[in-house]
Amino acid sequence: MTNAANTPQPRVHLKAVSPYKPGGKLAYDGPVALMASNENPLGPSPAAIEAIRAAAPRAHIYPDPTYTELREALVRTHGLQAADLERVVVGAGSDELIALLIQVYAGSGDEVLHTAHAFSMYRVSALVNGATPVAVPEHNLTADIDALAARAGPATKLVFLADPNNPTGTIVGPQAIERLRAALPAHVLLVVDGAYAECLEPAHYRALQDFARGRDDVAILRTFSKMYGLAALRVGWGYLPDATAAAIQSIRPPFNVNQVAASAALASLDDAAHVTASIAHNRAGIAMLREALHALGLETPDSHANFVLPRFVSAEAAADAHAFLRARGVLVRAVAGYGLANRLRVSVGTDSDNSRFLDAIAAWRATQPADAGLKTEA
Ligand SMILES: *Cc1c(COP(=O)(O)O)cnc(C)c1O
Repeated sequence: MTNAANTPQPRVHLKAVSPYKPGGKLAYDGPVALMASNENPLGPSPAAIEAIRAAAPRAHIYPDPTYTELREALVRTHGLQAADLERVVVGAGSDELIALLIQVYAGSGDEVLHTAHAFSMYRVSALVNGATPVAVPEHNLTADIDALAARAGPATKLVFLADPNNPTGTIVGPQAIERLRAALPAHVLLVVDGAYAECLEPAHYRALQDFARGRDDVAILRTFSKMYGLAALRVGWGYLPDATAAAIQSIRPPFNVNQVAASAALASLDDAAHVTASIAHNRAGIAMLREALHALGLETPDSHANFVLPRFVSAEAAADAHAFLRARGVLVRAVAGYGLANRLRVSVGTDSDNSRFLDAIAAWRATQPADAGLKTEA
């Protein structure tokens, strides 16, 4: 028998962290409409699939730990300059880069600011590092630039802002981000998370890159998980200030992106047609889903990402609709954990997923009182 007090003990601050709650799996007899995790319903680029096959026989060889080929391709594809190469850093998903940024800049006694309804990994990674995550109120489900600036103080080390934001789908745009930067203390690193950047006009992130290029206090994160359709492979990248990039290069695991993933990412960058088709499919899907949901009395914010966020009359109604959809093989995301208990997040699916969802949600709506869900106040 061991004395409990003598067993190995995780560090005390880690007690505040609980495991990530994924979009979920569904035991359902038949194909499931996967609309819970903002994945690309068109799948990976065929060129990426070919690259994965081609990389398989070389799985016994370590990757190039500098990832120079992939980083050079990112510079070319995203309109960066050759001199930017050292500022481009790759990670095992942007999740890893979020974790590394917080590890570099924030620990016990430091604050990590994020918006009220923000991607959960900012909070989780802050807690893992013993830092204090601070949720700053939003305005109409949109980041409140003035509130963020006002809340940032001497203890604040990082501000995370996803534009478009997940799970709200709202944006503030490059000008508001420049205004935020101007209002933040100089010692704070502003991290703009562009996980859904491809859903916007390219000018948005080109403007942000140009803005960040001249500064040492703005970082931009991007990913291959969403519109590039490579979520399973875990590849993200950052366009970081020189000193930030150097700090991350010195602490990241040397082979953090596996070679199969790096090869697939590289091939995806060369297949602009697939991204273009994915963006077009997404735009049409968002418009169609919003219009149909509004017709059912389920308001959604104007989404700039690849999901919609219908509002129900109550948390109970949202949970009931969630269960109703699940029972019909349609998996959408409950967002009570994001402080949005009366909403569900619905990712754009394939055309057939979208139809299944709309048929099921209309059937659910018919089970509700005629006037339920028609209120439109925030
Ligand atoms: C999905 C998502 C990410 C994480 O993406 P990975 O690259 O798969 O780790 C980061 N930020 C936001 C806002 C996201 O929605």
